[in-house]
Amino acid sequence: MRNNLVAGNWKMQGHRAANRALLDSVVAGMAGLEGVDCAVCVPYPYLGEVAGQLSKTRLAWGAQNLSEHAQGAYTGEVSAPMLKEFGCRYVIVGHSERRQLYGETDKVVAAKFAAAAGQGLTPILCLGETLADREGGRTEEVVARQLDAVLQSNERKLFEQAVVAYEPVWAIGTGRTATPAQVQDVHAFLRKRLSDSTRLLYGGSVKKENAAALFALPDVDGGLIGGASLVAEDFLAIVKAAAQAAVAPSQRKD
Ligand code: PEP
Repeated sequence: MRNNLVAGNWKMQGHRAANRALLDSVVAGMAGLEGVDCAVCVPYPYLGEVAGQLSKTRLAWGAQNLSEHAQGAYTGEVSAPMLKEFGCRYVIVGHSERRQLYGETDKVVAAKFAAAAGQGLTPILCLGETLADREGGRTEEVVARQLDAVLQSNERKLFEQAVVAYEPVWAIGTGRTATPAQVQDVHAFLRKRLSDSTRLLYGGSVKKENAAALFALPDVDGGLIGGASLVAEDFLAIVKAAAQAAVAPSQRKD
């Protein structure tokens, strides 16, 4: 059975004192919750401090990007072995902001996935169509292309522990969430291409108000949360919705 996962993506946001308070509240609020794994993906400079604060808690941590190279003359880059040194369990790969703003191609994303998985990090591979793709009826074509690029250049067994996040670009940070029917359709399509054990998250304006309906869907194993992961009360409400979905008998994902 797949445990639900809720991962926060702080993006380029944070402040040392505020981070500490936010994480203290999240850790305290997670006490006693079962059936859900939880993580925060934070900016690189905070990894050392976050590792120190979370090392004896159930809240895992990770990064939002990595280099496809292990070491060398790549100014400004951060490698998978470095993330391992800071105790990261997860790393986001191929977020749409990386693809759109920094020109990451499917090929680069596949190489980053390999670099992460090869070091024992769990990649959270992001896929998703733009509004033009959706309106043009190309959603499945786009997510299949993005996923296949990674599947074809990586050993199948690396996917067993990996996480895939479906994040329609038009829903990220826009307040516009995909409907449960739209999410379930794409997740069912992706599920057929993945190992049974691969967790499939939804991301795109998940909030405390819509989390329960999304996590109740049969092919959704949790969420990748941007804006709402910066507010302890909102993030915790989403984590609780994922825990609730995991214990509801009709939602068992065997
Ligand atoms: C994200 O950045 O991955 C994301 C899903 O953001 P938001 O929840 O703010 O839409």
